[in-house]
Amino acid sequence: MAKSKYEYVKQFEKNDVLLPNTWLVVRIDGRGFHKFSDQHKFKKPNDQDALNLMNKCAVSVMNDIHDIVLAYGQSDEYSFVLKKDCALYGRRETKIVSTIVSLFTSNYVFYWKNYFPQKELLYPPSFDGRAVLYPADNNFRDYLSWRQVDCHINNLYNTCFWALVISGKTESEAENALRGTISSEKNELLFSQFKINYNNLPEMFRKGSVIIRKEVDVKTTCENGMEVTRKKKVALILHDDIIGDKFWKENPTLGV
Ligand code: ATP
Ligand code: ATP
Ligand code: MG
Ligand code: MG
Ligand code: MG
Ligand code: MG
Ligand code: MG
Repeated sequence: MAKSKYEYVKQFEKNDVLLPNTWLVVRIDGRGFHKFSDQHKFKKPNDQDALNLMNKCAVSVMNDIHDIVLAYGQSDEYSFVLKKDCALYGRRETKIVSTIVSLFTSNYVFYWKNYFPQKELLYPPSFDGRAVLYPADNNFRDYLSWRQVDCHINNLYNTCFWALVISGKTESEAENALRGTISSEKNELLFSQFKINYNNLPEMFRKGSVIIRKEVDVKTTCENGMEVTRKKKVALILHDDIIGDKFWKENPTLGV
């Protein structure tokens, strides 16, 4: 196509090609989800359907963007990991981040009715997104550990907070009761006052969700009626510990 005299304005666009050979993490986070979860009456402290919807969106993003090798999610956030040598969109930052955040958001709206058939979506939800680069494997591992520890700390606190509120305390009384308490005291409070053994709560609540691609056997029926087993890579949702070495030893293809 012939270039117009206006074409030069393209030069005003900034070059945002990301540093090569670095782990690339794109984290998306629900915008104003404190209010969104209130208005849509999410169960507190953890609405399982809302978490399953987040996981569904993340799997969908991974099935669309094959450069993503791992995703980790908790609460209203998801981190997508692209390998060091990823060349997606020439590593242009805004192109990568905006595509992921928009895909995630459209999936959230698209699949809402499957997870909340009885709840109308009251207004269009939105997510923000950012990219962070990690040149060293240990910083990259620490990033994921940071998110999983955050999940644990928030979940322990929120579990105590809502147990106190449900038992009749006001929100500020519950806050006061928890101020300055350490983990072991929160575990003790849950057990002694509410007979809740924290370690028996669902792993998805305590550890979040990690999605990786794994080769699995998939049975398919051929046209001639014969059943054959083929190896297929699928995105699997796990609730594993990703802080210790075990997960990384079991998944060497991640290359950490
Ligand atoms: P921001 O726009 O700055 O991210 P925010 O209101 O989304 O603000 P966050 O720190 O992201 O604040 O916290 C998200 C909030 O959404 C949580 O504190 C929690 O109240 C709520 N939330 C998210 N997921 C769930 C869920 N599955 N069940 C119950 N509540 C949830
Ligand atoms: P990229 O992902 O790089 O943006 P693209 O396929 O979206 O690739 P664009 O240069 O953005 O390429 O062009 C969008 C194309 O979408 C147009 O070339 C046209 O074919 C189609 N398109 C968009 N809007 C309309 C419309 N209203 N009616 C018909 N076709 C449309
Ligand atoms: Mg935030
Ligand atoms: Mg948020
Ligand atoms: Mg958040
Ligand atoms: Mg266009
Ligand atoms: Mg286009």
